[in-house]
Amino acid sequence: PYNGPSKDQVMETRKQFLSPGIFHYYERPVMIVEGKQQYLYDETGRRYLDAFGGIVTVSVGHSHPKLVKAVNEQNELIQHTTTIYLNDQVAYFAKELAEKLPPHLDSIYFVNSGSEANDLAILMARLYTGNYDVIALRNCYHGMSLGTMGLTAHATWKYPVAQGFGIHHALNPDPYRGRFGNDGEAYAEDVKDMLETATSGRVAAFFAEPIQGVGGAVVLADGYLKRTYEHIRNHGGVCIADEVQAGFGRTGTHYWGFETHGVSPDIVTMAKGIGNGLPLAAVATTREIASTLQKRIHFNTYGGNPVSAAAGRAVLKIIDEEGMQENCRVIGDYLLGRFAGLQEKHDVIGHCRGKGLMLGMELVKDRETKEPAGAETKKVFEDMKDMGVLIGKGGLHGNVFRIKPPMCWTMADAEFMCDAMDHALSRL
Ligand code: PMP
Repeated sequence: PYNGPSKDQVMETRKQFLSPGIFHYYERPVMIVEGKQQYLYDETGRRYLDAFGGIVTVSVGHSHPKLVKAVNEQNELIQHTTTIYLNDQVAYFAKELAEKLPPHLDSIYFVNSGSEANDLAILMARLYTGNYDVIALRNCYHGMSLGTMGLTAHATWKYPVAQGFGIHHALNPDPYRGRFGNDGEAYAEDVKDMLETATSGRVAAFFAEPIQGVGGAVVLADGYLKRTYEHIRNHGGVCIADEVQAGFGRTGTHYWGFETHGVSPDIVTMAKGIGNGLPLAAVATTREIASTLQKRIHFNTYGGNPVSAAAGRAVLKIIDEEGMQENCRVIGDYLLGRFAGLQEKHDVIGHCRGKGLMLGMELVKDRETKEPAGAETKKVFEDMKDMGVLIGKGGLHGNVFRIKPPMCWTMADAEFMCDAMDHALSRL
């Protein structure tokens, strides 16, 4: 049992010494001292069902025994060397990760966070194409570094500082709220117009999450990526898929989110689930694009650290050995079915969406006007916590539940969450 400082002491110490810029969930935040598989435990030993995986980061489950073993073994051997020396872990991790990708994406650069990966992807795209402009989507989230804050398109995440040079934001192909509904071609036409009017006609890159995460599990409209990739390539740009949330089998039907749209990107960025919680991220691209970095020297101290690499290798293995991609498909299909039932019963549910274990449920005050139901979302969110289920919340108006649990969820977990949700919604 836990016998460290009390929750109040931790809260007080955090308030005093952690930056006030760091926010927490819940009016009275939960304190988590232990995690096993899909369950979290607070300081009193109370168990919570984890439906958010530390913001879509815990892919194979908390403290998975095979991963713990791999990390511990590497910890005992050596913790850090950097890539100036050879080490087997980083080289073989790159090989094993490349084997999961389309064959042309065979050059991997490891870094430590999604923001770093996306910054590096922008750099490579600009160097490779010789162009500057980058197109991203409204409602996207790509990170908090100055470079990626410029890509990110939510007022909530943008500070009034110099950022976003050369970045243009296209209409979001959001089937529920977007101007053209689920007509992907129409939104792609807007990108074409943007390329011809808002840029020099030559661009470096197009950035998109196959399913927007922070933006509220928005599945990009059908056919959008395919047509947009064509427009971008016609204007000299490369296509970048941010798989920080959608990758590693989470969508259920495919290992990568971009595959669900039938496209093949030139650069793929990854983070979060790749390390199951360890600081690890990557940029995968073609040898030709990656070679542009050789114009100077490029370096990252911790990227490909042996311990993180050992964790990443274990994640790849566990997903396959334990059939986690298929599990995401089965549990995700069940959840979508249950969500549809809840939607029939509760008028406040405006839209349910997503793929596999990357799901969203959007609450509205009125199904016609789609006015966001912020207060209702908050109430259900708190109630769910009190019933022992930790879900996520997102979307521009904070009115979307984000259900993105560890990929080891069972049917019983899914049933429990839906029952709790039904109860919480009934109490509104
Ligand atoms: N891309 C996406 C899609 C993300 O969701 C996030 C993090 N929420 C990032 C990039 C940035 O990752 P990090 O916080 O590790 O910098």
